[in-house]
Amino acid sequence: MIVNPVFINLAYIVACLTFIIGIKNLNKPSTARKGTYISIIGMVIAIIAVFFENEVALNWNLDFMATGFLWSFAALAIGAVIGAIWSKKVKMTGMPELVALYNGFGGLASALVAFSQFNNLRPIDAEPVAAVATGVTIFIGALCFSGSMLAWGKLSERIPGRAIVFKGQNFLNLIILLAILTAVVLYVIPGLDPQVKFIVVLGLAGLSLIFGVTFVLPIGGGDMPVVISLLNSFTGLAVAAAGFLLDNTALIVNGCLVGASGVILTLIMCKAMNRSISNLLFSGFGASDSVSKKGPQAEPKAISVEDAYAILESARSVVFIPGYGMAVAQAQHVVKELAGKLEANGAEVNYAIHPVAGRMPGHMNVLLAEADIPYEQLKTMDDMNPVMPTQDVAIVIGANDVVNPAAETDSASPIYGMPIIKAYQARTVFVLKRGKGRGFSGIENDLFSMPNTLMIYGDAKATISSLAGEFAAE
Ligand code: NDP
Repeated sequence: MIVNPVFINLAYIVACLTFIIGIKNLNKPSTARKGTYISIIGMVIAIIAVFFENEVALNWNLDFMATGFLWSFAALAIGAVIGAIWSKKVKMTGMPELVALYNGFGGLASALVAFSQFNNLRPIDAEPVAAVATGVTIFIGALCFSGSMLAWGKLSERIPGRAIVFKGQNFLNLIILLAILTAVVLYVIPGLDPQVKFIVVLGLAGLSLIFGVTFVLPIGGGDMPVVISLLNSFTGLAVAAAGFLLDNTALIVNGCLVGASGVILTLIMCKAMNRSISNLLFSGFGASDSVSKKGPQAEPKAISVEDAYAILESARSVVFIPGYGMAVAQAQHVVKELAGKLEANGAEVNYAIHPVAGRMPGHMNVLLAEADIPYEQLKTMDDMNPVMPTQDVAIVIGANDVVNPAAETDSASPIYGMPIIKAYQARTVFVLKRGKGRGFSGIENDLFSMPNTLMIYGDAKATISSLAGEFAAE
């Protein structure tokens, strides 16, 4: 049974359109769920279209039913079950690790597709462009796989999350890259002995896997989110190249969509951290602790919930600054409760969101939207910073790196130059955290010992509940 290719292409166009509409809807928390469903529909259409596509349909005989379908459906079923269980179980704070894993497997799948094309084989010698695409897909796919696995290990703290640097690292990377380039060129040369070609392909895959590791090794600390988004865009390119090999329009278009959105996200995050991509990739950020130029800091002043309530009660403007600790404590619902009490007491309440607060882009927006906090109250760093000196109280909930003034004042600090939310400019700053734990970058925070800062130690959810309780008990 052969399906008219026009219908197949039509199905791919519809699938691509749904992905574009899906991404557009992911732009806002209010439409994000709809965007996900639209994209799921697109994915189902694309999968069905693949089954009906010419080459598959040509094999639409008993033999294919017995073998091809069995393998395809077994792979689909196993992947769908693992994906569903994993996604259900993952905590919000574990999302970036999951993204790193998905990303890595996407890269591996593309590399395997290219590898299968090598075995298949269309006469590569007659198709040098396809040969280049095969080499490039194996390179990018394998690099994304090993790089993402390393990023997953770092983010999930299975291995040290800091940057690991050694002398001559950039030189080593350059040598590996040159060797990879040579392998791709060798692979493309027509008339090379097939056995030699096979060894070249294996060498290319091996070198690319090593390059993925040496590429991610010197990146650590607060730069990890950016590297994940960069690897994500690389995977998009590998998928597009694999689509080119398979002559599959949907793969090409969607690979490009992922590649482009990954690059855009990477640039947005670099801008948010005031870092260039090259500085991020090659500077070894987070390899060592900050060596502050200042002397020993004053001991932070701690206060009780009751004392904090006395200050809050008279506050006319309050800004919440959430960070990773709010996600750990799952404090977003009690934050809304406290905000309601503050508003009822006559205070204006806002939320200042740093672009890399938490552990994934948009992490804080998602959590606060989950608690039905009005979207208009979520202010960007650029909107909130100019009015920070007018705020009576800034409540820092489990945020650390994103409010660390060392980024502005200490040129020895590894986060120097990263824009921060200027919590220290508020009249009074409450910092809610459990103890002396450092932030993701592993560096000290001068904010905690500033004269206008008051620490309220304890789990953020318990502290905020108690504060809200004080209002209720009034
Ligand atoms: P940080 O990781 O800098 O700090 C989190 C703070 O939360 C810690 O100091 C910790 O202190 C406190 N904390 C943890 N659990 C609780 C709890 N239950 N109750 C109260 N406090 C708690 O968070 P930020 O959001 O300020 O910064 C994010 C960092 O993560 C940045 O460096 C960013 O670059 C990086 N990153 C961001 C990603 C993203 O895409 N957004 C992805 C990956 C990394 P204590 O232990 O004392 O309680």
